[in-house]
Amino acid sequence: MRGKRSKQYRKLMEQFSMSFGFREPYQVLVDAEMVQDSCRFKMELEPALQRTVHGKVKPMITQCEIRKLYARKDELGVGEAIEAAKLCERRRCGHHPDEYPEPLSTLECMRSVVDPKDQGENKHRYVVASQNQEVRRMLRAFRGVPLIYIKRSVMVLEPMSDESAQTRAREERSKFRAEIKKALGKRKRDGKAEDSDGDGEDGTRPSRAGGDDAESAAKPKKPKRRGPKGPNPLSVKKARKAQGDAPSKGAQPTEEATADAPAKRKRRRKNKSSSGGVTGDGAGDSAAAVAKADED
Ligand SMILES: [Zn+2]
Repeated sequence: MRGKRSKQYRKLMEQFSMSFGFREPYQVLVDAEMVQDSCRFKMELEPALQRTVHGKVKPMITQCEIRKLYARKDELGVGEAIEAAKLCERRRCGHHPDEYPEPLSTLECMRSVVDPKDQGENKHRYVVASQNQEVRRMLRAFRGVPLIYIKRSVMVLEPMSDESAQTRAREERSKFRAEIKKALGKRKRDGKAEDSDGDGEDGTRPSRAGGDDAESAAKPKKPKRRGPKGPNPLSVKKARKAQGDAPSKGAQPTEEATADAPAKRKRRRKNKSSSGGVTGDGAGDSAAAVAKADED
């Protein structure tokens, strides 16, 4: 059980690193209650945190939270907690005693520190270790906040929240799409040389359809391609002139032939529709890539 959980946590932190940029040493914001409970369960805070996230940590505590401990310093066990809290780096939350005679609630203080600009994200990439359920619930709505708590003397790393998981999935998808686009773009450049400038309006349309549809399947592509059917002869002509001087690589004989050809011949070429062929290839590739990704 322990081994399995350990593996889970390692994987989870890898995901946080990949998708949200977490790096060691992880900055772990702890609240007063967490410090107290770790003492109560005879856990040393820093090593326990490090075992949980599988990496170096920098435990931090806000001014408000440590003030809460000092306010109760005469209570049983609190002295020990204060000593433990002193080992943490002090995080300035800006809630000074002059302005705030009472320390802010853990909820408010954490929120202001984790997401100072109210954008729903974890600006400084904090891991938050809090015993307060309300605090954890609040932070689950933010993107990319690993959450830790102690349950029956065991330190637990929460699974990724829905909000974070969705963000992660979205990012993966867009990365994947970008890869496909890049691959298609390259292919297009190899095949068409400077065509993309010449026939911007017409020629790019079908190929872009091939690039964008990482997931929207091949079906909507076909009718789209049928519309333009081949390059616009006017724009194609312009591109040809630029190319015509330099007899280029044998890679696209069809291209070249059309380029040099007078208007009469072009008609015959149109049927073959070189750009149509290229897009066809591209579509096939992207479909293949999608299929491949599905396997993964
Ligand atoms: Zn504060």
